[in-house]
Amino acid sequence: MSEPCDFGLIGLAVMGENLALNVESRGYRVAVYNRTASVMEEFIAGRAKGKAFVGCQTVAELCKSLKRPRKVMMMVKAGPAVDAVIKELTPHLEPGDIIIDGGNTYYADTERRTKEVEAAGFLYSGTGVSGGEEGALKGPSLMPGGSTDSWPALKPIFQAISAKVGPNEDIPCCEWVGPRGAGHYVKMVHNGIEYGDMQLICEAYSMMKETLGLSNDELYDVFTEWNTGVLDSYLIEITRDIFSVKDTDGTHLVDKVLDRAGAKGTGKWMSQLALDLGVPSTLVTEAVYARGLSARKEERVRASELLKGPSPKYAGDKKAFVEQVRQALYASKIVSYAQGFVQLQAAAVEHDWPLNYGDCAMLWRGGCIIRAVFLDRIKEAFDANPQLENLLLAPYFATAVDQAQSAWRHVVSTAALQGVPVPAFATALAYYDGYRRATLPANLLQAQRDYFGAHTYERTDKPRGEMFHTDWLSKR
Ligand code: NAP
Repeated sequence: MSEPCDFGLIGLAVMGENLALNVESRGYRVAVYNRTASVMEEFIAGRAKGKAFVGCQTVAELCKSLKRPRKVMMMVKAGPAVDAVIKELTPHLEPGDIIIDGGNTYYADTERRTKEVEAAGFLYSGTGVSGGEEGALKGPSLMPGGSTDSWPALKPIFQAISAKVGPNEDIPCCEWVGPRGAGHYVKMVHNGIEYGDMQLICEAYSMMKETLGLSNDELYDVFTEWNTGVLDSYLIEITRDIFSVKDTDGTHLVDKVLDRAGAKGTGKWMSQLALDLGVPSTLVTEAVYARGLSARKEERVRASELLKGPSPKYAGDKKAFVEQVRQALYASKIVSYAQGFVQLQAAAVEHDWPLNYGDCAMLWRGGCIIRAVFLDRIKEAFDANPQLENLLLAPYFATAVDQAQSAWRHVVSTAALQGVPVPAFATALAYYDGYRRATLPANLLQAQRDYFGAHTYERTDKPRGEMFHTDWLSKR
């Protein structure tokens, strides 16, 4: 019998294969299984050749080859496949063994599965994995949650394979997030913030392309410069690179990419859950809507022939406007992250997850799609005040937004006047203006509700919670 393995991996598609190679590269012996055996065989004969892998034909064989407590990670399609694999696995496990789901699973499924697997005598971890194919291979951001007792056994492996940041590149982008579905929830918010970041960059692109008429080469230069300051991030970097890529005929490839966006649904989940929690996560919601509108390409083409609007053309100073767009992007991005953390805080209360928000920011500092220098400032803000209600109230961000707001307002108003859609810039500004007001027009709204539905209202001159009703009709 061969030497026992340290780690098991089920599901050898793009993510599973790369994660398995990453784990093995850190000195662990890895057992692998894939439902379609030929995929496993090809892997063992190909990328895994000469490495410390054991290819298994059955789940039973995989479990038999593992040291205890067994650590088996599933990288299979999210949804019913995860339940199917758990069902297959459990007869071959012993108390204390750990099942890990590294897929993009809906957090409520992980809440349920953690309870079910624990009730069966095993441990469960729903672990968010970000960074795509390359991250999985070289160092992803990992967001583990689930059975708290699983963490001591998972920690050495997960922190070894994760991305590292900090001056000595030794701070792992992997820390325990919280019980049950907390890890997958944090991963979902990461993805929602990614939606917001991408939409904001696209709006900045649209403003500079349509109103200023910047060429792809000029846009390359703008994004190169932006990537050296507060916006320094993976998404700004890849956007810069996209503007340099040419098609076979020598023209820029980006201009040939059809403007119809796809989505896998994590942004929509975040948005739906924000509505359930009653928190305004407007950036991700607008980003999801923007993708939805883009998907209606043929309808938009027809509408473009019928519906009139201004033709964008900016008459002012080009260079100054580019800087104003940069500031609008930065301020909107701050609002987007502020909203993401407010949603996390509300979810933590609802589900009784003791989340550490500074740690969450650091988990995203490397390895993942939203990695950015700016996350260090978020960590500092939550370290300085772990009870911080909203990032906008942290002195660093309050000052940053204040310094950017005049440019931000100019960009949003110019977009409206010139007919360029900037839903994420605009909703971010509307949120800022709503949040900073002690008084909103909801007094009138409450009066309307009481008028037509006797929903009652509170009064500014009476204690909170004391409800009043008026027969508005008779008082007219
Ligand atoms: P995927 O296309 O989502 O899933 C394919 C894998 O799932 C294959 O190994 C497949 O086995 C297996 N599978 C499907 N149904 C199964 C079932 N009923 N029983 C057992 N195995 C089953 O693969 P992926 O893109 O590598 O992603 C894996 C997970 O990571 C997903 O949850 C995904 O959302 C998440 N994720 C992906 C990325 C990314 O960039 N792709 C990034 C982060 C997270 P067969 O070969 O037998 O069909």
